[in-house]
Amino acid sequence: MSQLMAGKRGLVMGVANDHSIAWGIAKRLAANGAELAFTYQGDAFGRRVKPLADSLGARHLLPCDVEDLASVDGVFSTLGDAWGSIDFVVHAVAFSDKNELKGRYADTTRENFVRTMVISCFSFTEIAKRAAALMPNGGNLITLTYGGSTRVMPNYNVMGVAKAALESSVRYLAMDYGRQNIRVNAISAGPVRTLAGSGVSDARLMFNFQRKHAPLGRTVTIDEVGGSALYLLSDLSSGVTGEVHFVDSGYNIISMPHLDELKA
Ligand code: NAD
Repeated sequence: MSQLMAGKRGLVMGVANDHSIAWGIAKRLAANGAELAFTYQGDAFGRRVKPLADSLGARHLLPCDVEDLASVDGVFSTLGDAWGSIDFVVHAVAFSDKNELKGRYADTTRENFVRTMVISCFSFTEIAKRAAALMPNGGNLITLTYGGSTRVMPNYNVMGVAKAALESSVRYLAMDYGRQNIRVNAISAGPVRTLAGSGVSDARLMFNFQRKHAPLGRTVTIDEVGGSALYLLSDLSSGVTGEVHFVDSGYNIISMPHLDELKA
């Protein structure tokens, strides 16, 4: 096993359970020698995340609700005290009212629009700022996005708008922090069966459609997303920043199904 992350310490935000994309990423990073800290949102998630964090030898498992800026500050102050500096952050956090992840985007309420944007988009900027303060020798930030940012996916609605803003944030943050040798990238994952994923109405239909029509003829696993995160967070990708990297079995490149499917 290679040790691409040996000597690197970082924070993984967004593990809810062992189906979470962040968990697939954490496993890959730990297997490559990274020392990890985790956050959890609320006690119920904390009880589920603790055994997972323990299994990777994490010494820091910290509560964090990104709607509560004091808890975000608490995380970085704890890690600053414990580690002095930090090498990377994985931001795999998103939320929207599931009553608005169905029907028409046009019916999104102002309240849910703002909440979705704060949790799913602006939190990355707030976290980047705090992480960068602990990265005197450079570092690495990644977030998770979805192709509903640039193309209309049924029911994805306001989350697609938030992901578009998140991807734009990645580019602006990459510029802001590039001269500090802090790289900022996003992974655009294909559909994965997770808690957040199941919040989108008819998620199963979208999952099956993308599985059928993607060039690879399948969806992706959290381990595959983890492999791409390892690349983006390690020195293998040292020349890459401001990028949205698709890990979606190629679904994003198609404009119509494979001809064999149409002829069948
Ligand atoms: P998940 O439910 O396992 O993870 C979502 C995480 O967001 C949870 O850990 C939850 O606690 C956290 N979260 C939500 N609101 C929060 C808040 N206020 N403060 C702190 N944490 C909060 O689902 P997932 O699919 O692994 O989602 C991770 C990321 O991947 C999200 O950004 C999601 O949009 C993105 N993504 C998911 C898919 C998919 O199909 N599942 C595809 C592409 C991108």
